[in-house]
Amino acid sequence: MSKAAAIDIAGVSKIYGNTTAVHEISLKIPAGTYCCLLGPSGCGKTSTLRMIAGHETISAGDILLGNTNITDLPPARRGTAMMFQSYALFPHLDLIDNVAFSLKMKGVDKQARHAKALEMLRLMQLEPYANRRPAQLSGGQQQRVALARALITDPEVLLLDEPLSALDPFLKIRMRAELKKLQTSLGITFVHVTHSQEEAMALADLIVIMNDGRIEQAAPPRTVFQRPATAFVARFMGDHNVISGRVTAVGEGSVTISVAGGGDFTASGQAEIGAPVDIAVRTDRVRIGEGGVPGLGFTGSVTNVEYRGSTVKLMLSGAGVEDFTAILSESAYFANPVKVGEAVVLNWDLADAILLGGPAAG
Ligand code: ADP
Repeated sequence: MSKAAAIDIAGVSKIYGNTTAVHEISLKIPAGTYCCLLGPSGCGKTSTLRMIAGHETISAGDILLGNTNITDLPPARRGTAMMFQSYALFPHLDLIDNVAFSLKMKGVDKQARHAKALEMLRLMQLEPYANRRPAQLSGGQQQRVALARALITDPEVLLLDEPLSALDPFLKIRMRAELKKLQTSLGITFVHVTHSQEEAMALADLIVIMNDGRIEQAAPPRTVFQRPATAFVARFMGDHNVISGRVTAVGEGSVTISVAGGGDFTASGQAEIGAPVDIAVRTDRVRIGEGGVPGLGFTGSVTNVEYRGSTVKLMLSGAGVEDFTAILSESAYFANPVKVGEAVVLNWDLADAILLGGPAAG
């Protein structure tokens, strides 16, 4: 196998006619990283991936692989390989010829390319099926053929476009584990496009959250979870509540905001009096019961209760805050169950209220 390469995306934009799909993004992906590009549909993930692959021209900026500027190189000369969402396997060819296809295009003789294809099929535990056609395989096996076909060129970087989206939920989780294992054993750089937060959290060393053609945050999963950079990230990842207001008081390392027509809330961080800011509160750190500190809680009315097995999810509104989520452990909830329509006192610790950066709701 070849070695991994770092990717340096420097001020890259993608413009289609009068749509700017990617706005001057810069990102460094260290060699050997499992990187997930994450975001809602239309945020520019696929355009970014296709620019790295060379399937799309780069409107502005540069992309480097290791020390090589690949901006103007054709796909086959970049050291990257792409695995497509639909797998794009040839139905009339057996697995060996499917996997050997790119070597055939390069003029590698039949014996050498078949030997290499068999080696790749062995790596994917598909050797017994070498003479089958794709239609005679399960979805998970077809995905492994597509991986074998991408990896046969010994790429330094593997690019994966929604690789798990065609699989049923059970297989998705199994193949997710296989992808991670493969990346660890090959040690090459993976860039994987997904719109699933769960998938990105499970797989990535580096999560790049995109919104409207820009990068909102690029960080390891734990950092994204514990310190979402912006209100968009906090909302999109779904583990935080976002409370928006204006700063009315500043203390040493903390600020208090007032929500229009509602309550006051405190968070650690710094901002100027009058500034519109957002605060994130961890959904799993909210407690029910009296005894809280002013600014770190409110009284809300329960709007929904969802049982989830090990946890119970409550939705509440109050103090000018709509759709506030509290995830309680099953035992905490059933020690003191509450019903829809009931008013409950919520509180949390200062450490679980974070001042968010980026464009704030004004
Ligand atoms: P994602 O992968 O995050 O769903 P894309 O990169 O596919 O996002 O698309 C980003 C934006 O660019 C979208 O608004 C999309 O409609 C637009 N777009 C993508 N491909 C083309 C194209 N070939 N021509 C014109 N607009 C495009």
